[in-house]
Amino acid sequence: MMQDCLFCKIANEELDTDFVYQDDKVVVFKDINPQAPVHLLIVPRKHIPTILDLKEEDKELVGYIYLLAARLAREEGIAEDGFRVVSNCNEQGGQTVFHIHFHLLGGRNLQWPPG
Ligand code: AMP
Ligand code: ZN
Repeated sequence: MMQDCLFCKIANEELDTDFVYQDDKVVVFKDINPQAPVHLLIVPRKHIPTILDLKEEDKELVGYIYLLAARLAREEGIAEDGFRVVSNCNEQGGQTVFHIHFHLLGGRNLQWPPG
């Protein structure tokens, strides 16, 4: 647990966050500034600042998160139409919270350019 990390605080239930899903490895909650009708954040409980900080020992965790993303996509009803899983890294990648997380987006056409 990193004291000044927003997502550590959320995972630690220090903020009043409604979890869509939680277990011993991850918490999942709605993005406060949704970019699509479905916009969930899948956040490991372990504090890892960026993708660049992933270690060999985290391999299983990342696979676990992708399997969970697929399961949540089905449960949210966006699996068949299509969805996106995104993880941003550092400034030009658009990362604003330095505790890794995976955006699960869907419920609208995410293709760019559209069509
Ligand atoms: P990123 O910009 O990839 O680091 O993603 C951080 C995401 O966290 C942004 O999409 C924010 O809207 C979202 N966010 C920031 N604070 C909160 C919060 N308290 N609860 C839910 N989502 C948040
Ligand atoms: Zn953290």
